[in-house]
Amino acid sequence: DAPDPRTGAAVKAADRAHVFHSWSAQGLIDPLAVAGAEGSYFWDYDGNRYLDFTSGLVFTNIGYQHPKVVAAIQEQAGKLATFAPAFAVEARSEAARLIAERTPGDLDKIFFTNGGAEAVENAIRLARLHTGRHKVLSAFRSYHGATAQAINLTGDPRRWASDTGSAGVVRFWAPFLYRSPFYSTTEAEECARALTHLEDTIAFEGPAGIAAIILETVPGTAGIMTPPPGYLAGVREICDRYGIVLVLDEVMSGFGRTGSWFAADLYGVTPDLMTFAKGVNSGYVPLGGVAISAEIAATFDKRPFPGGLTYSGHPLACAAAVATINVMEDEGVVGHAAHIGATVLEPGLRELAERHPSVGEVRGTGVFWALELVKSRETREPLVPYNASGADAAPMAAFGAACKKNGLWPFINMNRTHVVPPCNVSEAEAKEGLAVLDAALAVADEYTT
Ligand code: PLP
Repeated sequence: DAPDPRTGAAVKAADRAHVFHSWSAQGLIDPLAVAGAEGSYFWDYDGNRYLDFTSGLVFTNIGYQHPKVVAAIQEQAGKLATFAPAFAVEARSEAARLIAERTPGDLDKIFFTNGGAEAVENAIRLARLHTGRHKVLSAFRSYHGATAQAINLTGDPRRWASDTGSAGVVRFWAPFLYRSPFYSTTEAEECARALTHLEDTIAFEGPAGIAAIILETVPGTAGIMTPPPGYLAGVREICDRYGIVLVLDEVMSGFGRTGSWFAADLYGVTPDLMTFAKGVNSGYVPLGGVAISAEIAATFDKRPFPGGLTYSGHPLACAAAVATINVMEDEGVVGHAAHIGATVLEPGLRELAERHPSVGEVRGTGVFWALELVKSRETREPLVPYNASGADAAPMAAFGAACKKNGLWPFINMNRTHVVPPCNVSEAEAKEGLAVLDAALAVADEYTT
């Protein structure tokens, strides 16, 4: 007889037999069998409950199983579960309207995709066709997705295995004062030098061949490096001067994560194209897209856009987006993210940094925080080497195990832990998570010198 599929052991066994997992050596992983989730928590089949400080992969911006979004998906399934993209469909029209109302400036046309990487692919396609140019500049310390073009734009080790020649991609260094590529000592210096470096890169690559610069408004997985004041405005000005399309990737930073609808709002910058996904519907049904400026949209008024997807603007995903945006509006979720960041997470994390020698830097905004863990605050040597695995990564693994033992599911990337709970995390939950981090950092401290 087949095992009862409702037990954790059966779920795990079928997973190990048949599911091929992302980014993993298949024989070395041990995925937790999840029985359920609600709000900021999920639980396994053995009665262990975890506070999710990762929001999945930084996408459950309104937490798990929000009843209004679940109901909207059920209602849409009953009404019109699917429909082809060439038609005008209520859920799609309404999602596009609600998104366009919130995206900055004149980004008023929405091309829907199934996720972030496809949004990046199509943003680059739009930029190349609009400008008639080919090269694209992207930053080291970035992530833009795992499809062919998006992974080549990515500036972290996930690219290395798929780097097939980069097809016109040129990478540059964006500002990051704590590990300044420009040996800067102040934010102002870092900003000025990063802009000069970008201009030099453009000059030597040939501005007439450059279609776009793509940047995460606040780089996410690469370390939540909030840009110094003036940097994004400077990039905008450079793009305007050379006729280069500015693409801001807000797949992770958008929809409330930074305590504003989009991180671009924090810096007063309007890109020409903006990619989104994840938080647009809290990841309940796959959805992403590109918000397009009036000028770029006009390029395709008479000329067909040569791109499309069977499920572009899928009704179930769009109904989930409509419900999510309405919930965020009705429940003041974006303002809450800013408030909880300023009043609980930031002071709490800074207080932890004071007491734990393993914390080299605390940075972020809203519900988007990184702790940079180091062997020594003085030398800033990372607690584990760049791209470490196996035994080299042991200190971070020990830190992660200490979090899980005490009921916190942590986001860990290289020598960093990111504090990225849902945007509607309560004060009590945020404090509960900080207390677990406190205990786990004591484990990390043991690896400092
Ligand atoms: N861009 C950014 C900034 C991301 O963080 C991600 C995913 O983490 C992507 C693009 C790719 O999105 P997806 O995994 O939905 O393709």
